[in-house]
Amino acid sequence: MQKKVLDKGYVKLLKADKEEDILKVASICYGKKLVDLEKKKEFLIKKLMFEHAGNPTSSFEFVNFLFEVKCPIFVARQWMRHRIGSFQEISRRYVSDNLEFFVPEDLDEEEKTKYLEHIRLVENYYYNLINKGIRKEIARSILPLSLYTTFYWQVNLRSLINFLKVRLDKHAQREIREYAKAIYKLIKPYAPTVCKFLKEAIKE
Ligand SMILES: Cc1cc2nc3c(=O)[nH]c(=O)nc-3n(C[C@H](O)[C@H](O)[C@H](O)COP(=O)(O)OP(=O)(O)OC[C@H]3O[C@@H](n4cnc5c(N)ncnc54)[C@H](O)[C@@H]3O)c2cc1C
Repeated sequence: MQKKVLDKGYVKLLKADKEEDILKVASICYGKKLVDLEKKKEFLIKKLMFEHAGNPTSSFEFVNFLFEVKCPIFVARQWMRHRIGSFQEISRRYVSDNLEFFVPEDLDEEEKTKYLEHIRLVENYYYNLINKGIRKEIARSILPLSLYTTFYWQVNLRSLINFLKVRLDKHAQREIREYAKAIYKLIKPYAPTVCKFLKEAIKE
């Protein structure tokens, strides 16, 4: 499953556990069989999601998601501040082709022309350096934050809830919010109850 984000980006959901695993893990706490807990799924997920001063319990750490993300570097920088999770990113130390740049919608025609001109200059200069034999890891230092990057992100549901809470919030930058919205939509079929309570929590 994939959602397009911004002008050239996307989020792909590559692997997903289901929210029922929260109950599977929690059943050990209550000394009950999973089948007994499933009858109270909504009640229990809500309780476990907000039990510790509004934070999910460790049972959410057993539900994992793997995403492939293509986003501008300035979005990736904000994303990678989320330390609880694993990242693997394309390396411009090894890869010099397929440069793509984010072009904001906000620009009027005049500014857009200048913006694209600037990107073309930078791109040409970058390939001049590469063609002269300058190391890729040095040549890349001329590239701007608008350059698209691609990474895998493996994250558990506890950390993902934290990510969604802060990155869906209106204080987060619009561009990363667009990615958070895409992620919310992608995980909803696997974690419908969690998404319902998350939406309510964000509204409050
Ligand atoms: C609107 C907005 C504006 C921001 N502005 C800035 C800014 O101007 N400058 C800037 O540097 N950052 C900024 N940030 C980044 C922010 O401070 C966090 O680093 C980022 O949101 C990651 O959140 P986190 O630490 O909760 O996530 P994670 O790193 O995934 O951590 C998840 C949770 O684990 C716990 N945890 C993780 N590591 C530690 C630790 N070392 N010690 C104690 N507990 C830990 C915390 O409970 C944390 O909430 C901004 C974030 C947002 C959403």
